[in-house]
Amino acid sequence: MYCRVHSGLKNLSLLKLASYKSVLMARSILTEEELRRYSRNIILPDIGEAGQQKLKKAKVLVIGAGGLGSPALLYLAATGIGHIGIIDSDKVELSNLQRQIIHETGDISRPKAESARDALHDLNPLVHVESHTFRLTEKNAAALIPEYDIILDGSDNIGTRFLVNDTCHAAKKSLVSGAIVGFQGQVSVFKSHIPGNNPCYRCLYPEPPPEDAMPSCAENGVFSPLGGIMGSLMAAEAIKELTGAGESLSGYVLLVDLLKNNFRKVKLNRDSECSACNG
Ligand SMILES: [Zn+2]
Repeated sequence: MYCRVHSGLKNLSLLKLASYKSVLMARSILTEEELRRYSRNIILPDIGEAGQQKLKKAKVLVIGAGGLGSPALLYLAATGIGHIGIIDSDKVELSNLQRQIIHETGDISRPKAESARDALHDLNPLVHVESHTFRLTEKNAAALIPEYDIILDGSDNIGTRFLVNDTCHAAKKSLVSGAIVGFQGQVSVFKSHIPGNNPCYRCLYPEPPPEDAMPSCAENGVFSPLGGIMGSLMAAEAIKELTGAGESLSGYVLLVDLLKNNFRKVKLNRDSECSACNG
């Protein structure tokens, strides 16, 4: 008797589940496979199915498939961003593999953008990935950046950082910016096209310092897991911006020191005389 009642209840709940699922499928842009693949995102109240649909519709550009871009790209693809662009003009070198975990030993000498694209395809074939093997210039940035919803900058040179900031502001795109050297990293979100205290990169650094004044990973070294932490934070901020989950890092910079285990969120202010966002 118990079994019959129990199995009746079970059938009823299965029936309910099936009809709930068919209602869900009818109004969802997510396929059954996607609902299963991303179920641990969807179950999070701050993401939900609506958030997952936003991720599927999103176009995200990652500048640099290096120490920061590698983990950021892997998490963006795994989480179900529908369209990912990768721009990097470098080729994979042996000394990259200590931290640029998207590339493998067999990828040495291949263009990083292509090696990264193939890795993302293996991880999640449902995501459309576009690779750009050229260097970002003023001209191609103005054409490329407006095509995307949000930009992640993990580039390794200061000129690109200023170019990306200025182009993002002009194109009204949010920018997630990360930097690493030694044991220290920083990450911030710049959405200076939105009124209020949303500073841009130039509010923080008004003019580019000479290229040789900037510490580089080649000269100063970089701690392997630092890229993993900071690149993952960049992916997290991008996902939060796209879904509206939680609090934005806009107006703050998160400073990380892995030697001292310090994570410090420092307030930033918009510069009323900034040449990029208050001109
Ligand atoms: Zn500014």
